[in-house]
Amino acid sequence: MKTLVMKFGGTSVGGAEAMAKSAEIVRAAKKDWPQVAVIVSAMSGVTDALLKGAHTAAAGDAETFRHIAKELHAKHEIAIHDLVGAIRESPLRENIEPYLAEFESLCHAVNILGEASPRAIDAISSLGERMSIHLIAARLREIGIEAEAVEASELILTDDMFGSANPQMEETAAKCELRLRPLMRRGGVPVITGFIGATRSGAVTTLGRGGSDYSAGIIGAAMAADEVWIWTDVNGVMTADPRVAADAQTLPELSFREISELAYYGAKVLHPKTIRPVIERGIQLWIKNTFNPSHPGTLIVPDNGRAAGAIKAVTAIKGQSLITIEGRGMLGVPGVAARTFGAVARSRVSVTLITQASSEQSICFSAPSASVSRVIAALEEEFRLELARRDIDSVTAINDAVIVTVVGAGMKYTPGLAGKIFSALGSANVNVIAIAQGSSECSISLVVDAKEADEAVRAIHDLIIAKRA
Ligand code: ADP
Ligand code: ASP
Ligand code: MG
Repeated sequence: MKTLVMKFGGTSVGGAEAMAKSAEIVRAAKKDWPQVAVIVSAMSGVTDALLKGAHTAAAGDAETFRHIAKELHAKHEIAIHDLVGAIRESPLRENIEPYLAEFESLCHAVNILGEASPRAIDAISSLGERMSIHLIAARLREIGIEAEAVEASELILTDDMFGSANPQMEETAAKCELRLRPLMRRGGVPVITGFIGATRSGAVTTLGRGGSDYSAGIIGAAMAADEVWIWTDVNGVMTADPRVAADAQTLPELSFREISELAYYGAKVLHPKTIRPVIERGIQLWIKNTFNPSHPGTLIVPDNGRAAGAIKAVTAIKGQSLITIEGRGMLGVPGVAARTFGAVARSRVSVTLITQASSEQSICFSAPSASVSRVIAALEEEFRLELARRDIDSVTAINDAVIVTVVGAGMKYTPGLAGKIFSALGSANVNVIAIAQGSSECSISLVVDAKEADEAVRAIHDLIIAKRA
């Protein structure tokens, strides 16, 4: 029987009105699809609020998390009131309240300890999804669909990398089959928490910020779905973030390589890890707009060959630092790059971009600014001898950098593109600090100062819209 997995993001469940729209979308899909599973995010803003509660509590503030609990209570209360008939309000309230109580007691514990472990952070940040599933399931029942709220801690088995846990796919598939299939076979709709999983011992983990998309990919793969539809607040994947370039246009089709590069380099519309489990199994992936459901959105295809138009989209990833290791003594010495990236890997930081000067006198790469002090410490430790001998002069970092990436599978067949990009940036007075070409040849990345990032995106976007590149 054909299976559809749909995921609704934070704004799609941001309040009663949006939830009602999402529920209608599920009802419409049920007409065409015998088996439907739904993944939902927390109501928009809730995960941020939960995390703020945890961090302020850890920093010694015993007040803020209590205010946040009240605000979250009010937010869910308004939604409850508008979502279901009066007699069904109080059972729904009883579903939500234990999580708010749990939030307060976890924050209280963190406050007393004076620190929040990654495990505690995951326990706290998972609560938003654990509440929202009850609201959506209740709304679906309200409009006549058999729906059951299911916590993904029962479905997705992960390792214990709290904060960015990795699923064990085989066992996850077995759990999903056992828990979800009977319900779906008889036409019921499981409403599953996005974002979370659990370790073998039952501790709740999270898959990383924005990870509900990934949950949809995991469950889609586990249930051997025919299609996965990601419902969000824009008309699919666009030529740029519409918040930065107001004239951004929807891309009707994008190859999985293109969407992977875009997602990896900051296009928030899809979590980068979503793509692999889905594409590997030949599952169709769509990105659609909850607030404009008749718009077809974007279809992700395996490969679009020599698609027309070289550059398809431009994106930016903020909060980066550019780290440089420099020294004449590095010239021709084998192994410096390996040692550099070995040291970075040991500090558990993942490198976002690498460039190397051809003279081999420097290695330059970027990493998230939040981890830069860890990276520099690891490099100074690795190259202690070389630094003392002055073979390596310095390990330095430029902060407030942004990586701007242009993406398009047709780029490798199009000569002269780099020139067009640079002259557009030159005309906009944007200074390029470093450049790297993606190994898949479907992206080029430029590092610019944070202050010039939006301007850089718009300048390149103008080339796309005017079909000049
Ligand atoms: P959700 O809560 O539904 O997961 P997100 O906020 O995570 O939604 O992602 C959707 C947002 O991604 C859009 O509102 C848009 O501002 C942003 N975005 C960034 N780059 C792009 C892009 N290239 N195309 C579409 N949206 C983008
Ligand atoms: N609620 C989670 C977050 O805000 C996951 C998601 O929305 O995808 O990061
Ligand atoms: Mg998202």
